[in-house]
Amino acid sequence: MTDESRATQPNPWVVFKFGGTSVAEAKNWPTIANLAKQCLEEGKRPLIVHSALAEVSNLLEAVVAEQNASLRKAIVEDVEQRHRELAASLELDADSILEGFLTSLRVLSEETHTQRPVGDPALHAAIVAHGELLATRIGHAYLQKAGIDIGWLDARDVLKTKHSPTRSDLQNYVSATCEVTADEVLQQKLDEGPQALLTQGFIASSEDGATVLLGREGSDTSAAYFAVKLAASRIEIWTDVPGMFTADPRLVPSACLLNEISYEEAQELASTGSKVLHPRCISPLRGAGIPLHVRCTHMPELAGTRVTPQLEDH
Ligand code: ASP
Ligand code: MG
Repeated sequence: MTDESRATQPNPWVVFKFGGTSVAEAKNWPTIANLAKQCLEEGKRPLIVHSALAEVSNLLEAVVAEQNASLRKAIVEDVEQRHRELAASLELDADSILEGFLTSLRVLSEETHTQRPVGDPALHAAIVAHGELLATRIGHAYLQKAGIDIGWLDARDVLKTKHSPTRSDLQNYVSATCEVTADEVLQQKLDEGPQALLTQGFIASSEDGATVLLGREGSDTSAAYFAVKLAASRIEIWTDVPGMFTADPRLVPSACLLNEISYEEAQELASTGSKVLHPRCISPLRGAGIPLHVRCTHMPELAGTRVTPQLEDH
């Protein structure tokens, strides 16, 4: 895109979010690359937000809780191995991509129970954040190799959480929230950078710069926060199911896939146990009127579910 057409796009950003099961499988990465390329061809700019590889956040929580140093080391090695295997299947050089965050993960996991007390909330957040930090290094390297002009953005530089005095220290570190509005300063800053960006879900930073988490399954919420800040024209949440259903299809065989629903209905489904969307992600989008589309990564041909500001009267 020329600088001229870039300047004439009113809401150039489209936010794409991919969950842990989507990014853990090498076969999904060509789909992700195609989506980013299509978005660029439409004259839009993709911001890809992704989670840790499936299971990795659980393993990192186990690192935090494990008292025994050699068992802790074994879990860190398992985490390392999973990332090395994915990098190898995508024909990427794991050493150069992962080394920085593997080193910081090893250092932090050795600190557990030696320099800092058991269950220290700041250490918990810093260790578990490594799932998203490591995974996005791989995603970024793959998309760059696929020929996309893409930058790696540290979500902690953009998403700032607010300390809540009524919540515990642990809640402030591992289940924090952000207050977001359209951020023109950020939008202008990103005008100068690469056409596409990739960043982490689930992680943010506190007012004093410490790493914090947005609660388990919080990557949907991260994507919503980025969409609001960038005044994105839409957000697409890519997951491992075909969309949102009237009830859990594994439990209720008559459950129907919903083609189009309102934010209110999506909020109701998310709050009453549908795991497709995190309940915290809808309200920021509803406030900003940003349409949300739920899609299935391994069946990109399916239409999915549209969550829209206003349903047309039928
Ligand atoms: N990786 C984090 C988790 O497993 C965040 C997310 O996947 O949304 O909870
Ligand atoms: Mg999820």
